[in-house]
Amino acid sequence: MEIYQKELSVGIDAIKKGALLAQAVAKGFLSENTLEKKDHSPVTIADYGVQTVVISEVRKAFKDCLFVAEEDTSDLENPSNRNLLEKLENFVQEQLPELNTDDILEVLKQGQYQGGSEGAFWTLDPIDGTKGFIRREQYALALAYIVNGEVVLGILACPNLPVSGFNTGGSLYYGVKDQGAFMMDLSGGERTSISCQKINDPKEANFCESVESGHSSHDCSQKIANLLGVSSPPLRMDSQCKYAAVARGEASIYLRLPIRPDYEEKIWDHAAGALILEEAGGVIHDIAGKSLDFSLGKTLKANRGIVASGAGINQALNSAVKNILDKHPNP
Ligand code: AMP
Ligand code: MG
Repeated sequence: MEIYQKELSVGIDAIKKGALLAQAVAKGFLSENTLEKKDHSPVTIADYGVQTVVISEVRKAFKDCLFVAEEDTSDLENPSNRNLLEKLENFVQEQLPELNTDDILEVLKQGQYQGGSEGAFWTLDPIDGTKGFIRREQYALALAYIVNGEVVLGILACPNLPVSGFNTGGSLYYGVKDQGAFMMDLSGGERTSISCQKINDPKEANFCESVESGHSSHDCSQKIANLLGVSSPPLRMDSQCKYAAVARGEASIYLRLPIRPDYEEKIWDHAAGALILEEAGGVIHDIAGKSLDFSLGKTLKANRGIVASGAGINQALNSAVKNILDKHPNP
């Protein structure tokens, strides 16, 4: 009997419900449904709504389980945002009619676990790539399960990324430790096994990276591409859809090259995508070649940046990253 099957099916159902909420919010005017957080990044009703639906659904199946989730309620509880809280209640009730505003705030607060190396917890980015969501480009709902500091299950929903050019709806990806990685239509249907490109010559590679040049250095990735002889232009997309693109063989490399010296990557921005990529045969390190350490709390504080690719080009990629970043040390 393979393990984590109940976590997998509960997680997929919860994420699908969350995706319905996100898509319902996306049908309306997003500017009216957006707040600026204290760190000046945007947050929408969809971020709060998905966090509510996913935590609530998973905790129905796994009572008292722990969540490290991105959103807190401080901005939402500001009296000036009363109107947003009412709209949030409407969107949540389309999925979970039993929840009122007080319940919603209580469920959202259940996402404040600090993580760490002991025991099991879930980590959730309800809308990863909020800027992409607002631009109506790529975004992802990302849920992972971490046991004793190790990611054992990752689920990604990508509502604006079709399974293939022939499909119109979104896609869903999952990986379970040592059980492979799979993709299916977000609306259901058969799963297909996915794997990273099997190329051995980096010249054949193509990169993906953030749309936001404030999240990853586009200059340095271009220098790395030049050194490797890569001629394809970078595929820029928001969110952990980048991990899905590499895991399903659409792109060869995902680079995230630090811009700010003090920035610590958040576990919810990488846990699900990293496991799916590894289960698809990919290799992932930070810019120093270190494995990602998910056991240190809410952030990957022992790591900087992300370097991920299929196994065949990984050594060449790591040397090129080192070569360029030694010459152009990050700020
Ligand atoms: P992406 O869509 O790949 O650009 O990543 C979106 C994520 O970038 C957000 O969920 C943020 O948590 C994260 N982020 C915010 N500021 C930074 C930064 N300075 N460097 C790297 N990532 C960041
Ligand atoms: Mg995010």
